[in-house]
Amino acid sequence: MNINPNYQNLQDSYLFSSIAKKVKEYAAENPGKRIIRLGIGDVTLPLAPVVTQAMQQAVSEMGSAATFRGYGEEQGYSFLREAICGYYAKKCVTLRKDEVFVGDGAKSDLGNILDIFSANNNVLIPNPVYPVYADTNIMAGREILWMNGNMENNFLPLPDKNIRADIIYLCSPNNPTGAVYSKEQLKLWVEYAIKNDSVILFDSAYEIFVQDKTLPTSIYQIEGAEKCAIEFCSLSKTAGFTGTRCGYTVVPHTLIRNGISLNKLWLRRQTTKFNGVSYIVQRGAEAVFSGEGLVKIKNDIIYYLKNAEIISETLRDLNIWFTGGRNSPYIWLQCPEHQSSWEFFDSLLKNTGVVGTPGAGFGTNGEGFFRITGFNSRENVIEAMQRFRTGKL
Ligand code: PLP
Repeated sequence: MNINPNYQNLQDSYLFSSIAKKVKEYAAENPGKRIIRLGIGDVTLPLAPVVTQAMQQAVSEMGSAATFRGYGEEQGYSFLREAICGYYAKKCVTLRKDEVFVGDGAKSDLGNILDIFSANNNVLIPNPVYPVYADTNIMAGREILWMNGNMENNFLPLPDKNIRADIIYLCSPNNPTGAVYSKEQLKLWVEYAIKNDSVILFDSAYEIFVQDKTLPTSIYQIEGAEKCAIEFCSLSKTAGFTGTRCGYTVVPHTLIRNGISLNKLWLRRQTTKFNGVSYIVQRGAEAVFSGEGLVKIKNDIIYYLKNAEIISETLRDLNIWFTGGRNSPYIWLQCPEHQSSWEFFDSLLKNTGVVGTPGAGFGTNGEGFFRITGFNSRENVIEAMQRFRTGKL
């Protein structure tokens, strides 16, 4: 018996445990001080009433013989997949119901999709980015190529014709940088993928934050993407489902490699290894896409975006370079006075009692940068920004 040796190549993730330890120490040393956490990528507003009502109704149905449901439809209930297709139609993207797969969130699907690709493929991953892309490929022993996000390209790296990649990860709006690709930029990626026979794994977990109508919210708004891209989305940030769990993945029928439909492969994978999402949660998810649901969640998103705007204004006044903060809940700032990510973390906590996330935790190119988020109450954000203005950063 041998373990998977690739796990030995994973770096231990100390990011959030180190943050928790430092915050605990600070709290013990400063008992009267109210700590404000602007580092967490989790939502703070509750589920919409229309969502909880739909789930309560579904619970009642499950308790009655006449309406009880057992195993559900393999790709997710038709009512939910139709609602998702309707949502895409509003983005001018036509999807077939059997191109949509309901899952328990983007993280699982982003990791599990790798089952359908050969271990010999190389992968191209932005740096910095959401760490799951790299870790899931390290576990599978794949060769990783990095694309550099930096201040020069506004953390939106574009294709390099000298690099040939089989699988490409794109995340827009990006976690952690908040940067959003334009249609013209995504078109370059689609052209590159078609030319090189690559597959783009497009993570649109934060698409709902995009307010600028000229920016894409789905890669399928780019011509040709249906031949080279899989899209992952989630209700986690869209509708506060981080604790409820529901997402979806789109695999178009036109995505063919080695003469085989990737939609068929993914269906085979999911029906073998995935049990689906509960009826109750899928009814809640369906309600997200109802008229009332969309109005409510969009209001919640505006609330987080207003927080991000307050943070952005403060950074602008303090002459601190940043990206994101518009069309995204994330603000990615350059640490003042050339501090490292952790130096800035320590000084910010010590001088202001505000907690953020060191950029180095998202890849080597994150060193010297720092992520703060709009996921908090308005009062906390205002108070934190007052401390930024008066404290030493
Ligand atoms: N993709 C990105 C870029 C994320 O930041 C996150 C969560 O923070 C996810 C995917 C995972 O979301 P889910 O809760 O749907 O698994």
